[in-house]
Amino acid sequence: MKKNNRSFTSIQGVVFDLDGTVYLGEAALPTAVEAIAALRAAGKRVIFVSNKPLNPRRAYAEKLTRLGIPATADEVITSGYVLGRRLARTAPHQRLFVIGEAPLLAELRSHGLDVIDDLHQDPMQVIDPSGIDGVVVAFDRTLDYKKLNTAYQALRRGAHFYATNADKACPMPGGFIPDAGATIAALEHITGRKVELVAGKPSSLTAEATLERLGLPPERCLMVGDRLETDIRMGQQAGMWTAVTLTGASTREEAERLKPAPDFIVDALDELVEIVLGK
Ligand SMILES: [Mg+2]
Repeated sequence: MKKNNRSFTSIQGVVFDLDGTVYLGEAALPTAVEAIAALRAAGKRVIFVSNKPLNPRRAYAEKLTRLGIPATADEVITSGYVLGRRLARTAPHQRLFVIGEAPLLAELRSHGLDVIDDLHQDPMQVIDPSGIDGVVVAFDRTLDYKKLNTAYQALRRGAHFYATNADKACPMPGGFIPDAGATIAALEHITGRKVELVAGKPSSLTAEATLERLGLPPERCLMVGDRLETDIRMGQQAGMWTAVTLTGASTREEAERLKPAPDFIVDALDELVEIVLGK
């Protein structure tokens, strides 16, 4: 199979989504450990890209290592990291109100950003929405009415509207739970506004951060993920090869219906070894 007249053996970098691709919950998906080890042993560069902003990059690296896939924080890119990097460049002085969990607040602060304290530190605290320059919406399992109302009041007064990711639901063992997309939709609905910036996949911001870290042009990279509208779309828009794995959010029928089609549909990651290494 050819793309831009290059064969798959020209692939030098493989970009892996995490949830539903490499692992589900606390277990590596079948063949993931062996496949990633084989790609690395063949000299391929590997990087992990997650839309999940729940933990710092180091925590995802530790989880991968625990599951048998040794990784460092530098080999992990999260939507929280990409958003922090972006806002540090474009809006370094804005006061941000974040619908997110504590590690995301810490991630954004690590980029030098001015993040208003989590309301849960003081349940009686009332934040003056006029002091909020930007609202960040993320995956937040502690979301409550106070947070939603604070974001709403700030957005009504013209605060910027950012999000780490726009996934509607997050795969968990046994099903899905609401993700940032649900909160974005609620705020868009009640304010009549549209989110200005979504950092995670499929955004070009995440693609750029990924390619920069790999140090490779897109046509030498393969994006591997379980979700068509984020993983596969980002890979296609960035000019990477794409492979959808059927271990998470997408079915074969959905993958086959996608236009343009992903370059590959695999049942598990071991098939990638054959694809990339030509074995
Ligand atoms: Mg996924």
